[in-house]
Amino acid sequence: MNLPQMFGENVFNDQVQKETLPSEVYKLLRATIESGKPLDVSIAGTVASAMKKWAVSKGATHYTHWFQPLTGLTAEKHDSFIEPEGDKVIMRLTGKSLIVGEPDASSFPSGGSRATYMARGYTAWDPTSPAFVKEGTLYIPTIFVSYTGETLDKKSPLLRSMTAIDKQAKRVLALFGKTCKKVSTTVGPEQEYFLVDEDVYEKRKDLRLTGRTLFGAPASRGQELEDHYFGVLKPRIVEYMHDLDKELWSYGILSKTKHNEVAPAQHEMAPVFGTTNIAVDNNMLTMEIMKKVAHKHHLACLLHEKPFEGINGSGKHNNWSMSTDAGFNLLDPGEEPEKNTLFKLVLAAVIKSVDDYQGILRASVASAGNDHRLGANEAPPAIISVYLGDQLGALVDAIVKGVDYIPVKAEKGSIGVPESPIFPKDATDRNRTSPFAFTGNKFEFRMLGSQANVADANIVLNTIVADAFSQFADELDGKEDLEKAANAIVARELKAHRRIIFNEDGYGPEWEPEAERRGLLNNKTTADAVPVCFEEKNIDVFVRQGVYTREEAIARADIQLENYTKTINIEALTMLEMVKRDIVPSVSDFVAELCSNVAAKKAVCEEIPCSGEKEVIMQLATLNDEVVALSNKLEGILKGIKMDEVLESSQAMAHKVIPVMEEIRKKVDKMETMTSSDYWPYPTYFDLLYSVN
Ligand code: ADP
Ligand code: MG
Repeated sequence: MNLPQMFGENVFNDQVQKETLPSEVYKLLRATIESGKPLDVSIAGTVASAMKKWAVSKGATHYTHWFQPLTGLTAEKHDSFIEPEGDKVIMRLTGKSLIVGEPDASSFPSGGSRATYMARGYTAWDPTSPAFVKEGTLYIPTIFVSYTGETLDKKSPLLRSMTAIDKQAKRVLALFGKTCKKVSTTVGPEQEYFLVDEDVYEKRKDLRLTGRTLFGAPASRGQELEDHYFGVLKPRIVEYMHDLDKELWSYGILSKTKHNEVAPAQHEMAPVFGTTNIAVDNNMLTMEIMKKVAHKHHLACLLHEKPFEGINGSGKHNNWSMSTDAGFNLLDPGEEPEKNTLFKLVLAAVIKSVDDYQGILRASVASAGNDHRLGANEAPPAIISVYLGDQLGALVDAIVKGVDYIPVKAEKGSIGVPESPIFPKDATDRNRTSPFAFTGNKFEFRMLGSQANVADANIVLNTIVADAFSQFADELDGKEDLEKAANAIVARELKAHRRIIFNEDGYGPEWEPEAERRGLLNNKTTADAVPVCFEEKNIDVFVRQGVYTREEAIARADIQLENYTKTINIEALTMLEMVKRDIVPSVSDFVAELCSNVAAKKAVCEEIPCSGEKEVIMQLATLNDEVVALSNKLEGILKGIKMDEVLESSQAMAHKVIPVMEEIRKKVDKMETMTSSDYWPYPTYFDLLYSVN
């Protein structure tokens, strides 16, 4: 494999554009892509024709607009290139078909922003994300809007949020004498996932229908030996990862790092970061390819945030920064951050906005799946806080206290082995427990769930930071002594928002009460986290930055709650089906067998001991009865929930349905440990977690 040569071979990237487009057209297209100039639609025909020709040379017969509706997934509808000519066909893609599509919008979530009988929706080309050929189809990344102009997808607000930050960051940079064509946010999403054998997976209804196990007693061996993290990769996993890399690279996805994660059967892939819009598209494609390649290897790739209880779940660390088209990173502290006023101002903007809008930032990562992670042992708590590390922590402290900053300098490290090289120590250690940690020249937002579309979190981040920039720029405009005025803002904002800074252990028991004293939000469930999105202040920031209209902001929160409610409802129904049709009958059969064994023993001789069996019979029969009673209770609760009242139904799911589901699970898991494996209807955690060699 010649990697540099095959990298991006399926992508209509810069190089292909240069080779296949007339130079005038190429220049106009690149101007749109690189500096955000409005697209000159007169070039669409030429671009479409070059794109089609290239795609056909790659074996494509179809094209599709590829978009990200509010389902959280991607959507596509394939049209062939054929156009009749006499009794033959020719292959054609017109400029119009490249630029707009018209899928029926009525079957996608719109959060009531549109009556369902109003069906018209449009997809429109996003030239900033390159088209690609996959399995015989040309994929054209697009946005998705309704006839009346409401956005119905995740890409349009993401692009709007990038426009907002571009505009406001450039204002701040200009004050400091820095000009540039464009400021973009950058993202590197680290993707965690599980792999299990497909045969075993197929036998678990819960995994297939809900993505997670609703039952399962722990295996005798979990992650306690800490031997899986960075452990030697098993041969089947090596083959899988190798194939995955090859596929990802062919789509121009910069897959860089791969390793085993903490839990058994858990792994991670981290790409090199890129512009947010492309990073989002690439991550959506990555998740799809991970599943597809798994199937080829007779594996199932689980992207759910918590496929297994009792061991770590999966997240997606969203490494986030901002940089100019010339590559200047706005979050780079440089050698002497204390003297770098621009950096301090940018840092203050991030800290201020994360504190002011902690509610919507938390809501942006809320989902039924992620609720199992946030606050559990492996993930940061549901409380948003910012970790700065020793160096910046000391700097911010000094600013807040109004004292001189004593620089924390990086030392040279040595381990006392003369042969091993002296390594330059980083200025600060890592903190793995912070939800929002500064890591050198970027922030790592660690609360995202593994199956999330990372657009959600980045829309919020971009918007709130753009808003802080815009306030600062307004204030600084025309100030004579810019340094002084900027430093005053920095000091004021850091003082006002120091409560959000937390440099200690976010998993420790002291943090929750401490966060409460500081007045920080701690919304543990999606049902409780999302309603903050209906607060005026949280709607206004989106409206002010031109990211959502009021109606869009409300519709999106509605959809998120609706999605949560439906997800829990599916889980509850799946649980009931498994209990009633498989688990209760199996346990009953096993109990019956034990009973007939006891009877047989007694028939031979009264003295044959059978108190062991009797005890198991009593316990299992009791548990089985209790499970039936709880299932009836769960059914009753579900019947009483009005699904279309989003606030009410999501509350009921979080606080009535889930607790009963947890009770059922506890009892079923106990029964599993007492029931003969011949009778247990499903593969166990041992079968699932140790199924791949
Ligand atoms: P670590 O997690 O050990 O800090 P790295 O610093 O190499 O690892 O980066 C982790 C992730 O952060 C990678 O996906 C990387 O591409 C991404 N990243 C690095 N720099 C930036 C940046 N400026 N903007 C966004 N993501 C970045
Ligand atoms: Mg990380």
